[in-house]
Amino acid sequence: MADTQTKELRDTIPFLSASEISKLITSKEVSAREVAHTMLDRIEALDADIHAYNEVSPELALAAADDLDNRIAQGATAAELGPLAGAPVAFKDNMNLVGTHMTCSSKMLENFQSPYDCTAVRRLLDANTLPLGKLNMDEFAFGSSTETSVTGLTYNPWDPERVPGGSSGGSAAAVSAGMATITLGSDTGGSIRQPAAFTGTVGLKPSYGRVSRYGCAAFASSLDQIGPFSHTVRDSALALSAIAGKDPQDATSLNLPVEDFAAACDQDVKGMRVAIATDLLEQAGLDPRLKQEVLDSAELLAGMGAEIIEITLPSTKYGLPAYYVLGPAEASSNLARLDGIRYGRRAENAEDILDLYMRSRSEGFGPETIRRIMIGTYVLSSGSYDSYYTKAQKVRTVIKNDYEAVFAKADVLLTPSTPQLPFKFGQFADDPTAMYLSDFYTIPVNMAGIAGMSLPTRLIDDLPASVQLIANHSREADLFRAGAALERSFAFPYTSVPAGRS
Ligand code: GLN
Repeated sequence: MADTQTKELRDTIPFLSASEISKLITSKEVSAREVAHTMLDRIEALDADIHAYNEVSPELALAAADDLDNRIAQGATAAELGPLAGAPVAFKDNMNLVGTHMTCSSKMLENFQSPYDCTAVRRLLDANTLPLGKLNMDEFAFGSSTETSVTGLTYNPWDPERVPGGSSGGSAAAVSAGMATITLGSDTGGSIRQPAAFTGTVGLKPSYGRVSRYGCAAFASSLDQIGPFSHTVRDSALALSAIAGKDPQDATSLNLPVEDFAAACDQDVKGMRVAIATDLLEQAGLDPRLKQEVLDSAELLAGMGAEIIEITLPSTKYGLPAYYVLGPAEASSNLARLDGIRYGRRAENAEDILDLYMRSRSEGFGPETIRRIMIGTYVLSSGSYDSYYTKAQKVRTVIKNDYEAVFAKADVLLTPSTPQLPFKFGQFADDPTAMYLSDFYTIPVNMAGIAGMSLPTRLIDDLPASVQLIANHSREADLFRAGAALERSFAFPYTSVPAGRS
């Protein structure tokens, strides 16, 4: 390859979609090795400032690239290699990948080596992608800003004074800054959609059971789902097709047919029924500019032939309080295994077994994790169980039923992803529960086990704005259909390097 061509490719590859990269590679215009090197060099140059990565895995990326180049040299066709072949990918650091650590950005697991591969990770790699490494997150996925990580802050690529969102902040920032093409995150109450909203990326939370959770450290097992971050809606669809499907290792994974989700991106929205919840747009704390993005999106969809239906969804406001009972309850139970004996950090100089547990856990867990364990243990205690846990489960059923009623009338529901644009570091340092509000619009989707996607719309004051699309369980195709139509209308400038980026 000529030097000028190399330079040009190096500048463009980081912001190409996976489909574009795989075309370049399978048509032999560029080698997979060149793509891997381009991305690794970019991470080296940029990540000192952004800190999306907890660990970079050049050996794994280059080995996968060489394997792909060899297969192409031996005549493997684009159809055989698949539409993600050669796409640079990376994973939230709560997913196992052999050859890397799995730290959950916690002192508790700082030396934990992945003993096996997470199913979603393995499936994405089996689609011939190039693994670049593991991404920063809030400790054990508790948070909305990635500030609770013990490995340090991740900076929002659009404005280094602002958070990238959380808990999958590294997964969002890596795609946003062109340091990976597709990343995986996990979403328990908004941890894919909220950071996607804050970084101008597409973030998908699939329906509960659509994607195996095997090999992903559990936060709240009844709410967690793994999903992709990408620049484009089509890449999100391609990634979901790669990672979805029944897994014998996860009894909650469903045997749903794995559709060709990318095909939905080419369908027009004529006749699609799009609901907007008028009460959710009057919610206190919603930035009026983000309300406007929802109204404008509805108008764009209507202009393309969709039918707009106004509804109300009053149970949404109960999502947050119920989530902060159920989420911590399940988390406190899941984290009980981290006792310094079977897994994780073991304290030195313990006097007896109880002292060992207490010291190991006190040393290993940060303040937000301890807060969640204490809340969870409290709401599960015999005196509080009925007034908190049982009640929250009932609220969950109400929320689920309300969505059922909406989806009897509509194909998708359009809402804000977040009440606010990305906030500044430390903004909620004195009041951790105020930050919980940033998941107001995302949490009920997890409670109901349905599917949601955040997609970027425009820049407002140089910061990415977004909307959320919600669809009924297993109806992700509707998200891709409406999402791709909006993406074409807005043409968010994800391919350009925003101000302040090199
Ligand atoms: N921000 C929410 C929380 O702190 C959601 C986190 C998540 O989805 N993992 O619990």
